[in-house]
Amino acid sequence: MNAAQSLHEIAELMQKHTQEWVSALHELGKFSEQEPMSRHTTLAVGGPARWFLRPHDRDSLMAAMALIPTDVEILPLGRGSNMLVPDGGFDGLVVDLSKLNDFKFDGCIVSAGAGVRMGRFSRQCADHGLSGCEFMATVPGDIGGGVAMNAGCFAQQVSDSLIAIQVVLRSGELKELDAADLQLAYRHATLPAQSLVVSATFELHPDSPDQIRERMRSMRSRRSATQPLSQPNCGSVFKNPEGDHAARLVEAAGLKGFQIGGARISSQHANFIVNEGEASSSDIVDLIRRAQRVVEEEFDIRLEPEVRMIGELL
Ligand SMILES: Cc1cc2nc3c(=O)[nH]c(=O)nc-3n(C[C@H](O)[C@H](O)[C@H](O)COP(=O)(O)OP(=O)(O)OC[C@H]3O[C@@H](n4cnc5c(N)ncnc54)[C@H](O)[C@@H]3O)c2cc1C
Repeated sequence: MNAAQSLHEIAELMQKHTQEWVSALHELGKFSEQEPMSRHTTLAVGGPARWFLRPHDRDSLMAAMALIPTDVEILPLGRGSNMLVPDGGFDGLVVDLSKLNDFKFDGCIVSAGAGVRMGRFSRQCADHGLSGCEFMATVPGDIGGGVAMNAGCFAQQVSDSLIAIQVVLRSGELKELDAADLQLAYRHATLPAQSLVVSATFELHPDSPDQIRERMRSMRSRRSATQPLSQPNCGSVFKNPEGDHAARLVEAAGLKGFQIGGARISSQHANFIVNEGEASSSDIVDLIRRAQRVVEEEFDIRLEPEVRMIGELL
């Protein structure tokens, strides 16, 4: 057998192996190939995920992870509200955790599945007279994405009340981690490589449901007055540098309202990029790079993206 023949045989074997685990995934959840990520991100841009799985439940997720070869890259997906996927797509498996959406209340301790929307979580906590996560009423992601990003606003963040999480490791094993193990910082959590958060446990404190709901209402109305919420966006594009605001710097650099292709730096809030309808991912990346360059030239400050740049955009 010559070298070309043996390479051909290896390729055939690999393809057969791929077909085997791919067909097994159909049993473990909603599975598709070449799934457009523009359908799953709030910016409404992004090319196809090579494979896409929405597991039925935690056990299906664990079984799937144990099956998938370790060289297949995993991308956990919440509501895609902080994700920029390239136009060329993602060459791996996107795992949508939205079916993991159970709750458990035990006094002031509340556990929620990764796929519970933060808005729903905050409303349920208000109904139980539990305070500490009011800000979640204004953040459009899920609990898993909120943990991964240490989401926050209005002087509250996930790390204030998070006490523990459960993750499924790349091997398929379930592991419990204390919040103290996650090095939680401003929009940052350190998770085990290629792991997926499947649930999170918070410790909240008692307060009057009416007062909690009033704080949530006030946060929501401050949001809608200042942010371009009617157009596709991903919230704050850049992290605020120490002692300053990314929006102030982008505006002072003269870029408020600046447009590339179908993407525009919002005229309402300069730390938002909106998709005017036909934006591509590369329009948004070009705007991000332009803002970074101009702000650095003018103010000697390098803005760091808060939005998670996926795959080749990293
Ligand atoms: C209008 C608007 C307003 C916003 N306001 C705020 C705000 O005030 N404060 C704020 O912090 N953010 C804000 N955001 C950004 C975003 O909502 C948050 O970062 C949110 O936490 C992302 O959650 P998600 O479920 O959408 O995560 P995704 O966007 O789906 O994912 C974000 C990152 O987390 C990872 N991830 C997601 N789920 C998991 C999981 N289960 N396990 C492991 N990793 C996971 C993803 O792989 C990705 O790297 C806003 C966004 C929008 C569109």
